[in-house]
Amino acid sequence: MCGIIGYVGMENAVPVILDGLKRLEYRGYDSAGIAVLNEQGFGVVKQKGRLSSLEKLIDQHPIDGVIGIGHTRWATHGEPSDINSHPHLGSQHRIAIVHNGIIENYQQIKERLQQKGISFVSQTDSEVIAQLAEYYYTGNIVETVIKTANALEGSFALGIMSLDEPEKLIAVKQDNPLIIGVAEHGNFIASDVPAILAHTNKVYYLNDKEIAVLTGSTVEFFNMDGEPLHKELEVVNWSLDSAEKGGYEHFMLKEIMEQPKILQDTIHSALSGDNAKIIESLDIAKYKKIVITACGSAYNAGMVARYVFEQLCRVSVEVELASEFRYKDPIIDRDTLVILVSQSGETADTIAAMREAKRRGAVTLSIINVVGSTIAKEADNTIYTMAGPEIAVATTKAFSAQLVLLYLLAIAFARKLGRISPEVEAKLVADIKSIPNKAAEILERVDSIQKYAASCVGYKSIFFIGRNIDYAIALEGSLKLKEISYIHSEAYAGGELKHGTISLIEDNTMVVAISCCERLYEKIYSNVEQVISRGAKVLMIGNCIKAAPGEKLEVIKIPAINELFSPSLSVIVLQLFAYYVAANKGLDIDKPRNLAKSVTVE
Ligand code: GLU
Repeated sequence: MCGIIGYVGMENAVPVILDGLKRLEYRGYDSAGIAVLNEQGFGVVKQKGRLSSLEKLIDQHPIDGVIGIGHTRWATHGEPSDINSHPHLGSQHRIAIVHNGIIENYQQIKERLQQKGISFVSQTDSEVIAQLAEYYYTGNIVETVIKTANALEGSFALGIMSLDEPEKLIAVKQDNPLIIGVAEHGNFIASDVPAILAHTNKVYYLNDKEIAVLTGSTVEFFNMDGEPLHKELEVVNWSLDSAEKGGYEHFMLKEIMEQPKILQDTIHSALSGDNAKIIESLDIAKYKKIVITACGSAYNAGMVARYVFEQLCRVSVEVELASEFRYKDPIIDRDTLVILVSQSGETADTIAAMREAKRRGAVTLSIINVVGSTIAKEADNTIYTMAGPEIAVATTKAFSAQLVLLYLLAIAFARKLGRISPEVEAKLVADIKSIPNKAAEILERVDSIQKYAASCVGYKSIFFIGRNIDYAIALEGSLKLKEISYIHSEAYAGGELKHGTISLIEDNTMVVAISCCERLYEKIYSNVEQVISRGAKVLMIGNCIKAAPGEKLEVIKIPAINELFSPSLSVIVLQLFAYYVAANKGLDIDKPRNLAKSVTVE
C-alpha cells in the first residue's frame, strides 16, 4: 500500500521522484525516501515522517543522479523509523530496492543470510530483498532479479538498481501494482498513473512475474525464464488536472465537487459507451444467485445495490466483505455471478475473493476505476467507473460512480429477466439521468452544510440511522465521518436502536437520520423522537421529511428522486458533513491517520 516511483533519463532524478512521491503520498505516508545512483555510488536520503520533512532533509544533504527510486511507506513490518524507511540497500551497498507489499518468508531468508554472515540493519521484511539480490548477484541483473523473485513468497512490487549495471532500472511485481511510463526525457516505474502524469500518459501495465528493464531510452520486458516479452504501450486518458487540487484546500472537497460530471460520464458510458456493451453481453438469466463482494466504501455500495437488485430483479443478492468471503468456504458455483467492486482494482482482499470465486467456477464481473489494474484484468468481465484519478484516501466520487453503475446494471438485469416493462425501464433510466443535476443542486448549498457541521465537532459519538436503503447509505455516512474526523461513529438500522444502541444515547450524543423512504417516514421519525427525548441532537437528511427543525433537530432537504436511487443524493450531504466536521477540527483530511488508499496488503 506504499507508493513507488523510479526514474532513469536525462533529468536529475531527485525533483522528478519527489514530485511523483507527492502524488503517491495518499498510498502511504509514515516515512519516505529516495536513492539515486551516480559515480560515487548510491546516495540515499530517507526518514520517518511526511514527504515535506524528506524534502527539507534533501535540501540539507543534496543528492543527485539521472537514475533513482523513491518510496512513501505504510509500514507493515517494523515500526515507522528512519532505518526502516525505504529504499533498502544490501550490506555491500551494491543493490538498492523499494518494495510495496509483504514478504511472507522473510524470516527464513533473513536467518539463512545471517548464517552466511550477512548483517541486517532494519526490522523490515523488505530488506531481505536487497540482501538476497546482492547475495545472488551473478553479473547479470535480470538473472539475479529472477532468482531473487523466485525465492520470495508473498506480494511485491519492486524497483531495483544495481551498482554494477548503473544505467538500468529494474521492475518486477507479484500481486501489487506497477506501471512503466515512457516519456520524452526518460522512463519511469510507478505504483500508479497520477505519479507520472506530469511527464507522460504512455504506459505499459506490468503483469505478475514480468520483469521490466529500463534505461534512459529503452524499455524491455522479460518473463521469469529470462525470455523477451512483447507488450503493448497504452495511452491513458486521465488528465493532469484531474490529479491536481485545482485551488481546493483538499482533494476530498475537489472530488466531492466533481461528482455531477463524473456521474454524467459514468451514466453515459453505461447507457451508450464501452460499459454498455459489457452490460448487454451479460446473460443474467443464467445465474441463480448474485454475490457482491468488496471492502470499505465499495462494500457499502454493494449494500445499497442489494436493495436495488432485489427490488428490481427479484433475484436474491448476498453482500459479503471480501476479507470474510475469501475464507468462508462460500456457497457459489457456475450458476453464481460474483460482482467485485473496487476503486483501485488492487484491493488485496477483493483480489483474493475474485480468485476464490473463479476457482469455484463462478463468473466474475468487476466494477473498477483504475484501468489495467489486477482485478480489471483478471475478472471475466469489467465495467469502469469514469471517476478519473481519486487522490483523497476517503473515497467520494468513485463511490458515487460505483452506485450509478450498480443501479444501471440492476435495471439492465431486470429488463433481461422480464421483470420490468419498457415504460418502467425508461422511467428508471430518466430518474438516474436526473441524478447529476440534483447532485449539483445539493453542492450549491455547501455553505449551510458547512455551517451546521461546524457546530458538531465537539461530539464524542455520532450515530447514523436509516431504514431500508437509507440504512445502507447510513453505513457510508458513518464510515466517511470516522475515517476523516476520528469521531466515534456507528450506523444502525433504525429498527435496531431499541435492541441495544439506544442505551448509548444521552445528552451530547448526536444522531444523523436519513429519510428518503417515504413509506417508512413515520418509523424513522419515531426513532428520531426516541433519541431526542433521551438527549440527542439530530440531523435529518432526506426528501420526505415532514418535521420542522427545532432546538434539537436540524433538517437538510435533498431533491425528490426514486427511493432506490436516493442514496446518490443523500451521500453527497453525508460526504460534505464528514468533510466539514474534519475540516473544522483542522485535520489532515486527504491523508487520515493509519489509513491508506488502495489497500494492497491483507
Ligand atoms: N512490507 C514493507 C514494509 O513494511 C513495505 C510496506 C509498504 O508496502 O509500504 O516496509
